[in-house]
Amino acid sequence: MKAYIVERDKLKNNIDIVKKRAAGKPIYGVIKANGYGLGLLQLARVLRDEGIDRFAVTEPSDAIRLRMAGFIDEEILVMRPVVSEADVSDIIDAHAVATIGSYDDAVLLSGLAEKHAEVVEAHIKIDTGMGRYGFVPAETERIAQIYRYMKRISITGLYTHFNCAFGSMKKTNAQLESFLAVADRLRESGCNPGCVHAANSSFLFRGDISRTDAVRVGSAFLGRLPCRLKNNAGLQPVGYARCEVVQVRWLREGQTVGYGAAYTAKKAVRVAVIPFGYADGFGVARANDIFRFRDRLRYLLHDVRGLFSARRMTVTIHGRRAPVLGHIGMVHCVADVSSIQCEPGDEAVIEVSPVYANSAIERIYE
Ligand SMILES: *Cc1c(COP(=O)(O)O)cnc(C)c1O
Repeated sequence: MKAYIVERDKLKNNIDIVKKRAAGKPIYGVIKANGYGLGLLQLARVLRDEGIDRFAVTEPSDAIRLRMAGFIDEEILVMRPVVSEADVSDIIDAHAVATIGSYDDAVLLSGLAEKHAEVVEAHIKIDTGMGRYGFVPAETERIAQIYRYMKRISITGLYTHFNCAFGSMKKTNAQLESFLAVADRLRESGCNPGCVHAANSSFLFRGDISRTDAVRVGSAFLGRLPCRLKNNAGLQPVGYARCEVVQVRWLREGQTVGYGAAYTAKKAVRVAVIPFGYADGFGVARANDIFRFRDRLRYLLHDVRGLFSARRMTVTIHGRRAPVLGHIGMVHCVADVSSIQCEPGDEAVIEVSPVYANSAIERIYE
């Protein structure tokens, strides 16, 4: 049986570290993408148990799921603008906080709120470099008009999302300044920006949060930050996949393994066949984790090497690492267990980020 194991003690350790770092400022627990693969509701429960009472999601429907599961008092910020009446209905039904990233967003939200005879709470999003949603800092006057004229919208926050906080802090700090300047200009024109928030996980550990009112954290809970920190700031990677070895067999000299015959046995080798492949998320993180040029180069070299030799992936059996031979298949991989005593039915542990572990695999908190 395949399962994805979430280690509760490590998760708690990471939450503790995040809380210390936030130094009493409110934390939005970001639980988008099914709680980064840890399970929307399961992760939300652990965060709530640890005193986190604000959540941030991407989909309005996630806000509904949270309320239905008994998250009644928590604030839920939906971090993308609404596009449809269904979105607005979900936000109204869930008493969630909407995001407004343009004047058009505000017009739509305001019109639909009026239709529902409701006042909708919203945070204003500023685009400081991400290029997704948000007013550019020069549009402050446009934002002020929402405060003044759209009485169906109650603005309680202002935020931005940094695109380089794992890398250039020079760029990021400049973005912070231009963002905070928007808050200042709003105050000068008599509009209260409300809760001003910007920090994501990388910024929380690398930047200065003292001039903002809250932080939004996701990946730090997983212990998997896109930036390198000394000793990983004490954060511990949470989660691994587990499944059973199906077959143990000997391959003779000259036999090959996997698509493309990337591996040929140079001598007799004992292998374990494990029903876990790229459709389960094994080995796919690499392709998506490309952030810095250095990494890009590293991945490129790795990929070029990968054309000639097996990737250096491993699975762990009885606490010992077994190198994966040849290319990983869709639902299978083959590992060298020449030096490991094992048999069919034994447990194989596979390193995979919960974000990439196939969502059909059950998450088990231990
Ligand atoms: C994902 C996300 C975050 C959290 O980022 P982490 O680096 O995972 O902490 C914060 N804000 C927004 C808008 C996001 O999309």
